[in-house]
Amino acid sequence: MKTIALRIDVDTFRGTGRGVPALCRILEKYGVRGTFYFSVGPDNMGRHLWRLLRPAFLWKMLRTNAAGLYGPEIVLMGTAWPGPKIGRRHAGVIRAAMEAGHEVGFHAWDHHRAQAKLTTMSAEAMRSELRTGLAELERITGVAPRTSAAPGWRSNAQLLEVKSEFPFDYNSDCRGEFPFYPVVNGRRLEQLQIPVTLPTYDEALGRDGVTDENYNEFQISLLKPEQLNVITIHAEAEGGRCAGMFEEYLRRVLELGYRVVPLGVVAAEVKESAPEGRMELKAFPGREGVLAVQI
Ligand SMILES: [Zn+2]
Repeated sequence: MKTIALRIDVDTFRGTGRGVPALCRILEKYGVRGTFYFSVGPDNMGRHLWRLLRPAFLWKMLRTNAAGLYGPEIVLMGTAWPGPKIGRRHAGVIRAAMEAGHEVGFHAWDHHRAQAKLTTMSAEAMRSELRTGLAELERITGVAPRTSAAPGWRSNAQLLEVKSEFPFDYNSDCRGEFPFYPVVNGRRLEQLQIPVTLPTYDEALGRDGVTDENYNEFQISLLKPEQLNVITIHAEAEGGRCAGMFEEYLRRVLELGYRVVPLGVVAAEVKESAPEGRMELKAFPGREGVLAVQI
């Protein structure tokens, strides 16, 4: 069956407050459900953006017009004042997404810190980051999330081992081609990995002549009808400035006969048949630094 698993990353205060309700409205209109990965702690993404003001990142900012995409307060958030706690203020938004039938997964406590430091943290620091965030998400939704997604696809063997101590059924921590059971230090972990197979908006834009005008065409050309497709959208982009474009994408892929489903639907279908596999941190087209890639 032609399938697109829809993953929605929510990284910021504004993305949660404005982007998530906007995306819920679009998805409702087409009867589509997806998996929202929420960040629930402090929004320090502005600090993140400033920290990364290196040439490659500056180029990307210019290429994608990050200030226009994310909005000025996201660029400033957490630089001059402590970042507001997303889960405290936007618990209602997270609950509403769940009540609308979407799958709710765990993305981060502090997205900025996790993306910058998670792979170099001690196992104990990783545990504590996960515990704090999961407790907050569970306080909000009343249930323990069954899935998680490492911010920025920054993941390593130690993080996978730490995650295996938590009650996740499956995770989406890397880029790749097909779902697999990661083998870490000679041991097969029982939490399925569902890699993201398609590029994100900010990765694709400005490369190989991709513009807002031909972006959907480009995304659709990458779909593989015979294989599982997994796309990541961001509440900050597709729930904001790119909302119209995303709605058009959804309309077109549904017309092409794709079903668009939460990652959990796919996880249940491939659970028995998925092979073992590995991943490692590598440079990735359109991204700053390294991220976990299926090998
Ligand atoms: Zn993220």
